[in-house]
Amino acid sequence: MTEKREYCGLFGVFGHPDAVERVYLGLFALQHRGQESAGIASTDGSTIKHHVGMGLVRDVFTRPDLEALRNRAAIGHVRYSTTGSSRVENAQPMVVRYSRGPVAVAHNGNLTNARLLRDEFEARGSIFRTTNDTEVIVHLLAGVASQNLADPYAYVLDRLEGAYSLLILAPDRLIAACDPYKLRPLSLGRLGDAYVVSSETCAFDMLNITRVRDIEPGEILHITEAGLRSSTYCHPDRVRPSHCIFEHIYFSRPDSYVFGDSVHAVRRNLGRQLAREHPTEADVVVAIPDTGHSAAVGYALESNIPLDIGFIRSHYVGRTFIQPSQADRASSVQVKLNIMREVVEGKRIVVIEDSVVRGTTTRGKMEALRAAGAREIHLRVSSPPVRHPCFYGIDFPTSNELIASGRTPKEIADFLGIDSIGYLSVPGTLSCVSRPPSHYCTACFTGRYPVPIGAHMGKYAMERHQLSMF
Ligand code: SF4
Repeated sequence: MTEKREYCGLFGVFGHPDAVERVYLGLFALQHRGQESAGIASTDGSTIKHHVGMGLVRDVFTRPDLEALRNRAAIGHVRYSTTGSSRVENAQPMVVRYSRGPVAVAHNGNLTNARLLRDEFEARGSIFRTTNDTEVIVHLLAGVASQNLADPYAYVLDRLEGAYSLLILAPDRLIAACDPYKLRPLSLGRLGDAYVVSSETCAFDMLNITRVRDIEPGEILHITEAGLRSSTYCHPDRVRPSHCIFEHIYFSRPDSYVFGDSVHAVRRNLGRQLAREHPTEADVVVAIPDTGHSAAVGYALESNIPLDIGFIRSHYVGRTFIQPSQADRASSVQVKLNIMREVVEGKRIVVIEDSVVRGTTTRGKMEALRAAGAREIHLRVSSPPVRHPCFYGIDFPTSNELIASGRTPKEIADFLGIDSIGYLSVPGTLSCVSRPPSHYCTACFTGRYPVPIGAHMGKYAMERHQLSMF
């Protein structure tokens, strides 16, 4: 419930008679990762069919659509536009035909050298039909098709920079791969003899799929009728794990295992650590739903302050909600998030929020709490202050729009109209996950970017030519 958006979710199945149905259900489990468009591509071993559309999974596919796609291998994608605007040409999987036949590509992340690669192709006369960075992957594939390489996919992946968890469907195989930093999650599962790949393991649980393992940084899997073949497609020196810590803080579902850890357990640890770093006298702990719940449990356990339900989220307010122009901010927040007056009235409240980005929606929630009679409001944030933009697939605003950029905690608390604020420290955050601190990206807190940033990065970088025409 903060001002950042999810990015993309991937789900693929190879070797199952109901592959398309499973992908469809898998995309439901990944819907939180993108609500702008959805798509599925499937193959019968010689051709590729696909169906994509704007909106939620439930709106994009009908029963006849799924029947028409029915095959033993399929990949699916849900998207929030982190590169390229929200329109159907940018929906994925992207399907093209080149000299080796048809191919479908589904991508989660942002390529930091996409603009550079696209400029090179366009200078040679290539024509692009979308404005998203995924299209350079198919141009690279087409470009190496005639070069007789043992593994053209590995060659192409090694030319990419930035964040990419990828699924590629060809008539004879499913390719799954992660960038050498493994910024975004991707896991492998089994369903009988079939192989399954998903951005998050919560989709496995729903479909009785056995979780096998994470796909490793720099790893490429070729899944064919002959089985699974794994290799590292880049030089070992390039493999430097830098997992996005925000997957644990906010993006992934709490019932997923991400980068080897239970997301719920990590969030509960974050809450415990937050209570140690920022204790306070209070009557009750409440979470901002839904992502604050696990950290609120941890804060309450560590502080011995009772946990209660302070906010009720409406599950029926969709993306089409139009902010009423005349209503005050507090009441427009309450359309989505109502306050339990009985819990907060006259009380000293600890509110657990996963992060504060611009601060405007958080301020609305704090105003609503105050209007419901909260006596004191102590906001505890289960992440460090977000001060820098993300170039790896998260749509944070620019630095000067970030509330924590250039402001002290006291100034932020005054802006939010609360009694105190406490953010988790970076070392405290990293103490809550199981891998070494150096294996995580914390760039939006620290400004230390693990992957070099391209000169023309940004959500609309690929649209500059189109935009400059107007
Ligand atoms: Fe994740 Fe922040 Fe790194 Fe982006 S900058 S990948 S949001 S930790």
